[in-house]
Amino acid sequence: MYLGSHMSISGGLHRAFDHIMAVDGTALQIFTRNQRQWKIPPLSEEDIALFKAKWQTWGSYPVAAHDSYLINLASPKEDGAAKSMAAFTEELRRCEALGIRWLVTHPGSHLGDGVEAGIARYVKRLDKAIEDSGTESTLVLLETTAGQGTNLGSSFEELAEIIRSSRHTDRLGVCYDTCHTFAAGYDIRTPEAYADTLARFDQLVGIERIRFFHLNDSKVGLGERKDRHDHIGQGHIGLEGFRNIMNDPRFKEIGMSLETDKKEDLEDDRRNLAVLKGLVQNA
Ligand code: MN
Ligand code: MN
Ligand code: ZN
Repeated sequence: MYLGSHMSISGGLHRAFDHIMAVDGTALQIFTRNQRQWKIPPLSEEDIALFKAKWQTWGSYPVAAHDSYLINLASPKEDGAAKSMAAFTEELRRCEALGIRWLVTHPGSHLGDGVEAGIARYVKRLDKAIEDSGTESTLVLLETTAGQGTNLGSSFEELAEIIRSSRHTDRLGVCYDTCHTFAAGYDIRTPEAYADTLARFDQLVGIERIRFFHLNDSKVGLGERKDRHDHIGQGHIGLEGFRNIMNDPRFKEIGMSLETDKKEDLEDDRRNLAVLKGLVQNA
């Protein structure tokens, strides 16, 4: 079982490994650049070497990158779309250079003209970005979203549609965010609800598409379509929901990362990881 957290890269990309080691995590998510800016400074050979060396020191555990929240590949506005394309293409190249196998991304927002038009734009640009990047190995993981506003990707049908219509189906997977899917209306709080939700996912998307998890509890109730993370066991999902995931043998080899609030001392991460580990039933 690979369990960890999203860590800061302040002071250098390799610093994230210091933080994940400090909480005994065995999975990591990072931004590969300042995610609040469009500008992406180049990666030097030194940055890459330092990152890879530190990764080895930690262990060969799973690392995912999350792209910038500024990126909207489904945008109907030409300038926003052009900036998003350039940034996403570069994020793919950075992941491949760093040896990161998964780039987690939200499937964009249609901003008013509907899901169908939004998905069509999204797929066209996603395909072009994959091609323009010249990358070969990094997978794009479409994150399940809460369905706030005009955000795409909050139903399994929409994720399936994106994957089905892409020319690069072999480069696509899913990052399952527990908070978002719950807020989007998919219940996992009882063994029965969990089995049903995952069976629906399997039927529409395919369970093997799940390559990474975001483990977050939800401050909002089932189907309230808001993206508000809570600490594990303190939100509307509750411990029983996470117990279902932690004991699902299908996900034993999949990296799982917290995206919950914390201070510099990382105490909240330590507590959340301990809570999750405490749910694992030893066979
Ligand atoms: Mn996300
Ligand atoms: Mn997430
Ligand atoms: Zn979220």
